[in-house]
Amino acid sequence: MTLVLRSHMVTPQSAMRSRKLSPPAQAAFDSERMRDLVKFASKTLDTPAPIAFAAEIVNTKTGERLVRALNNVGKSKDPSLHAELRAVGIGCRKLGSFSLKGYTLYTTCEPCPMCMANAMWANLDRVVYGLTITEAAKFVRQIHIPATEVEARSDWRCKVDGPCEDQLCLTLFSHPNMMKAFRSWRTRKA
Ligand SMILES: [Zn+2]
Repeated sequence: MTLVLRSHMVTPQSAMRSRKLSPPAQAAFDSERMRDLVKFASKTLDTPAPIAFAAEIVNTKTGERLVRALNNVGKSKDPSLHAELRAVGIGCRKLGSFSLKGYTLYTTCEPCPMCMANAMWANLDRVVYGLTITEAAKFVRQIHIPATEVEARSDWRCKVDGPCEDQLCLTLFSHPNMMKAFRSWRTRKA
């Protein structure tokens, strides 16, 4: 009985391990996802509402995309609607679960403390980010707490990897239309 139970428990884990990508293959996959996400966000750059912040959630094991979202703070007048928070919310509703265990979040900018905390509450396996908070702060105000620190001070474990394709992500933030929009975001502050 015990043996049967053990073998039943070990098999799925072994299967998971066997499908795990090697570090170089994982890095190549991460870069590919990030490049695709940058392409998605770049479509907004020539519109009246350019958005540099985009997020995507994929199945960690299969790489299949669950959801992709843009920051929607300006349009919705809701300061919590960062791209990562939207992606997690939409993804959870799609799965009918509050847990995204087995999923990885990709985001063009290192998650702010709110989004990183939400990633932990959602049980995400991993977070891969593009530009660092420090780099993004050159364009728009940020809360200077690294995602790794939020993770380290929580009761969950979530692997944080980045920067990934940060120079490419930088092209979103430094685009003239985006920089013009950032200046108007700053004006709202006063
Ligand atoms: Zn955020």
